[in-house]
Amino acid sequence: MGVRQVGVDDAMVLLEQDWVKDRILHWEDTSAARPSLAGPTQPLPEFLAGICLRRGLGVPQRPSEATISGTVLARVDWGRWLADCPNALCANGAEMVSVQTPVFICASCGSPESGGKWYAVKFPCNKAAIERELLLRPAVALIGDVRVGRGWAPGQSLAALRAEREALS
Ligand SMILES: [Zn+2]
Repeated sequence: MGVRQVGVDDAMVLLEQDWVKDRILHWEDTSAARPSLAGPTQPLPEFLAGICLRRGLGVPQRPSEATISGTVLARVDWGRWLADCPNALCANGAEMVSVQTPVFICASCGSPESGGKWYAVKFPCNKAAIERELLLRPAVALIGDVRVGRGWAPGQSLAALRAEREALS
């Protein structure tokens, strides 16, 4: 099964920068680095809700026990932790995710299937080990003329990640 590639051009711009080379990125990393968001880092829920509002997708409520329902799984795509939109009608919706505020709503479609509720974001329990393994490979590598980045899919074992890395070198 092919894994969706999300915002690859954005990722490439990021990956050219030195400060991303020693970390797998979370939402806070890029929001702080984005010049268009100069000033204090906005909390992730406010950021996503703001986009939904500007796009006329309705305003999700503040995430709380009562307004979080369902779960999305975090994965790594081009060195970034993100989650895919679970709405079958949404094409390629995905958002970078946060460990501090592990909630998700899709800024592309507003997640209408969840009835205005947020999803909880679930990270793997071996997240640190996955990050350590991914950081052993370059942020962008080439196999022939195909670009390969730091990626991990839910369920993928550390052994499989290691085998991928060894195939790169
Ligand atoms: Zn969506």
